[in-house]
Amino acid sequence: TPAQTSPNSQPVSAPSSLRGAKDLVRIEGVHKYFGEHHVLRGIDMTVKQGEVSVLIGPSGSGKSTLLRCVNHLETISAGRIWVKDELIGYKEKGGKLHELHVKEVAAQRRNIGMVFQRFNLFGHKTALENVMEAPVQVKGQDKATAKKRALELLDRVGLSDRAKHYPAQLSGGQQQRVAIARALAMDPELMLFDEPTSALDPELVGDVLNVMKDLAKSGMTMVVVTHEIGFAREVGDTLTFMDGGVVVESGNPRDVIANPRQERTREFLSKVL
Ligand code: ADP
Ligand code: MG
Repeated sequence: TPAQTSPNSQPVSAPSSLRGAKDLVRIEGVHKYFGEHHVLRGIDMTVKQGEVSVLIGPSGSGKSTLLRCVNHLETISAGRIWVKDELIGYKEKGGKLHELHVKEVAAQRRNIGMVFQRFNLFGHKTALENVMEAPVQVKGQDKATAKKRALELLDRVGLSDRAKHYPAQLSGGQQQRVAIARALAMDPELMLFDEPTSALDPELVGDVLNVMKDLAKSGMTMVVVTHEIGFAREVGDTLTFMDGGVVVESGNPRDVIANPRQERTREFLSKVL
């Protein structure tokens, strides 16, 4: 007998370059309540090693909450999230989930870089010091090694000439590129981006997207919440549309954009395109 399929399900074939790649992130049956407010209503999603997974959806649909659950900045009310086959935020004992100790959560987060909408750099530290901070403080790297690596990363995001500048002396786009370099300094295997360009002046968006595009090309696994449909089409391997705390549809970005199967997706895309 054929398997039961929900009306929204559709076969999603990974792009050829990712065929055979392992799942780096597995999200199964995730629900999230804030009090009575049921914000995530059963999310299932996987992200393969090397995949660029783009998440879109209206404001309030739960995109940020979902990203925050992936590195356990939020607890989850039901379901499971694995990164690299490791259950995030919890350990399972006798069928029950127990929240991990903060130190164990911190260890899991080291492998997951996150870049937020608002550049959250340390204002009293230079670009270089911002990038060096976590490797020195968290990993205990010696300063010379951390500095060398930080300068490489600043070069990679096109800011080698801004190493000594303080955040206030940098444009929003430059600050966001420092934030990306800072996240990369911990050598994460997964990068989460939550609307990294939506607080930027339009002329600064391109430089940040280019850095993300290069990162994608280098093989980084990325989950990107964005309204930049061009980026989704060009760089994304998968495009997932969320609304009301559920995944409405997911597939190859070109297909979803050109041919949304669900009315809600069509309506949303018509507003952002
Ligand atoms: P999106 O990123 O798609 O705009 P969010 O994940 O930020 O959506 O928010 C989804 C819903 O959850 C919204 O209704 C928001 O008000 C609510 N929400 C988010 N964070 C909290 C919180 N810490 N406490 C209560 N409600 C929250
Ligand atoms: Mg959000």
